[in-house]
Order: sequence, then C-alpha cells, then structure tokens
Amino acid sequence: MDLDFTAAERDFRAEVRAWLAANVPRNLPSMNTPAGFQAHREWEARLADARLSVVSWPEEYGGRGASLVEWLIFEEEYWAAGAPGRVSQNGIFLLAPTLFAYGTEEQKAGFLPRMARAEDVWAQAWSEPEAGSDLAALTSRAVRTDGGWLLHGHKTWSSRAAHASHGFGLFRTSGEGRHRGLTYFLFPLRDVEVRPIAQLDGEPGFAELRFDGVFVPDSGVLGAPGEGWRIAMATTSSERGLTLRSPGRFLATADRLVELAAGADPALADRAARCWLDAEAYRLQTYAVARRIASGRDLGPAASLGKVFWSELDLRMHTLALELLGERAAATPWFDGFLFALAGPIYAGTNEIQRTIIAERVLGLPR
Ligand SMILES: Cc1cc2nc3c(=O)[nH]c(=O)nc-3n(C[C@H](O)[C@H](O)[C@H](O)COP(=O)(O)OP(=O)(O)OC[C@H]3O[C@@H](n4cnc5c(N)ncnc54)[C@H](O)[C@@H]3O)c2cc1C
Repeated sequence: MDLDFTAAERDFRAEVRAWLAANVPRNLPSMNTPAGFQAHREWEARLADARLSVVSWPEEYGGRGASLVEWLIFEEEYWAAGAPGRVSQNGIFLLAPTLFAYGTEEQKAGFLPRMARAEDVWAQAWSEPEAGSDLAALTSRAVRTDGGWLLHGHKTWSSRAAHASHGFGLFRTSGEGRHRGLTYFLFPLRDVEVRPIAQLDGEPGFAELRFDGVFVPDSGVLGAPGEGWRIAMATTSSERGLTLRSPGRFLATADRLVELAAGADPALADRAARCWLDAEAYRLQTYAVARRIASGRDLGPAASLGKVFWSELDLRMHTLALELLGERAAATPWFDGFLFALAGPIYAGTNEIQRTIIAERVLGLPR
C-alpha cells in the first residue's frame, strides 16, 4: 500500500490549514444551548461558503467532490485547528450517505444543500424506551392516509433534537415481521412534541420525541415502504465505521495529551505515549479502509472493530488527562470531554453488541 500523499492531496491540506488558521472561531458557547446552537449553525454556513462544510459531496450539493482520503485529511486539519464540533453531524455523516444511496433526486436536491449549510439540522430518531440494542423491537408506527402517513409513537435519546429542525427515523408500517415491516421516514420536527433530556453536564444534548398522528407526505419516505431496515443498516455502517468519528479527532486529543504529560511521572507519560501510538494506528488503519472502499469494496461488519477501538481509546485518553490534572481537571475542557467519552461505548451501538458482531461475523465464531 502507498502511504504517501499525492501533490494534490498535499496542496489540499495546505489550503485547508491556512483557511482554518484564519477562520476558526474560539470559545463558541455549547451547541446544546439556544445561543450556542445558533453560533454553531453560523460557523457551518461559513464553512459552506468556503466549500469546506462537506468536502466529499458532489459540487451540485455544496461539496467539492473530494476523495475519501481528502476528507480524512480535512478532518485531521479540522480537529488539529481546534475547530468546533459539528452541530450537523447526524445529518452530514449519518443521513447524507444514506440519501446519496437511496434518496430520490427530489429528496437529494431538497435536503442536502440546506443540510450542508446547517439551514436544516437533522436528528436521528431511532431508539425507543424499549428498543435500543434490539432496535427491531421498535413499536412506533405509521398509518396510511391520503397522500402520506400519520406517525404515532415515542422515540428517545435523539441527539440535538432539542433544537434541530428535522428528524429521520424508523416506523412500523406493517405487521410482516420484525424487520420487514419497517419504513424509513424523513420529517420536520415542527409538529412533533419535543421534550429535552439533560445529559450528565445538565445540558439538553438529547430529547424525547412524541408523535401523535404527525403527517408525513409520501415524498418523506426514504426508499420504499418496508425497506427501512435494510436502508437503516447502511447508515449504521457509516456511523460506526468511518464518518462519525474520523481519526483526526482522536489524534488531536492524543497530541494534547502528550503535551499535558510532558514532565509527568514516567508511568503516566508512558500511558500518554501508548495512547498517541493507538491514535496513529487508528489513523493508518482508516486510510487502509478508505483505500479499500475507493477500490469498490464494502466496509461491512469490520466497521464494528473501529467503533470499539475509538470509543475505548477516547475514554482511556480522557481518564489519563483527569489523572494528570487532578483537581484542576474540573475547570478544563478535559472534564466535559471525559463525560462525553463515557458515552462512546454506548452510542452508535453498544460495544457489547459490536463485540458480538465481531465474534460472529468477522471471526466466524459459533453463536
Ligand atoms: C450520547 C448518546 C447519544 C445518543 N444519540 C442517539 C440518537 O441521536 N438517536 C437515537 O436514536 N439514539 C441515540 N442514542 C441511544 C443509543 O443508540 C442507545 O443508548 C443504544 O443503542 C443502547 O440502547 P439502550 O440505551 O436501550 O440500552 P439496552 O439496549 O437496554 O442495553 C443496556 C445494556 O445491556 C447490554 N445489552 C443489551 N443487549 C445485549 C445483548 N444482546 N448482548 C450483550 N449485551 C447486551 C448493552 O450493551 C448495555 O450495556 C444515544 C445514546 C447516547 C449515550
């Protein structure tokens, strides 16, 4: 495998680095507050003006047709520059790849350019109080009506939904079996009852959603009725494997951790070095995956390996930072980072479930 970057890739990196150095805002308020949410949307609109919001998308939707390797380069520069977390992440990283694969021309033209500029911010509405790991147990349903569907039911843990404008979720449209009776819907949150839920830090990072006959036209169905499970599984592969958590994010954390450990007890400094090596290993592995995908191969269940690796690494890095800082940690961003890292082994499919997928579908162990 060729590990060198091409001249065009190096030029792209230089362009991104220079633009970010001149434009990254400092100290935006949390995206889970109304003011912070708005400030993050404005930042993403500025990224879009520079055609840096969604670099790998086709130009007609606001991107620049960059390769997967260029997108990874962009992400490395983005996180190294200390740029803000993406308020649009669930739309641009989870829904968009699915829209490109299954959306109609009308859906792509109607939703993607607005998503790229954070004019619309999308929330994922999959989990239910009795359906998390076992998602196919979901009971929210959609009933046929003139020209569309009426959504009923209860979703929960929907990130960003407290302030977002749109949702994408699975609803039961027939009793044909756990998986075959599900349909994938795209809808505005305007008519949905949204009840914010506080995270560990007290901010409403997610929300419950109550549907009481919310009308969605036929144009809000992604793919065909009954195809929802197959389409949703395409989204989970993006979420776990590559797009939601690129290596750049963890490398930037590892770089800061190594700085923090300078002059520390050698045993702690060694652990920091180990984290840095693991972040670098994840980076190299991801470039290999990107090249495999570019040559037409699927990521498949191996996506679960990456998910377990990055979530455990993130938690190890933040735990070590807290040990290095002691009482001072509470006044630093490491503390919030630690609280969020605790959730890494849970969201995007818990690590226990990922280990089962790895055992059965990657290693071929008996069930
Ligand atoms: C920060 C955060 C953001 C989230 N954002 C969203 C979002 O935007 N949209 C959304 O729809 N959901 C979201 N979720 C929900 C997330 O997808 C679920 O929490 C997750 O799928 C687990 O489901 P559950 O919470 O119902 O736990 P359960 O499924 O009830 O699991 C409880 C425990 O049992 C274990 N377990 C369950 N089944 C098995 C099994 N078969 N074998 C071994 N162990 C098992 C699990 O690993 C876990 O440890 C988010 C969660 C978090 C923490």
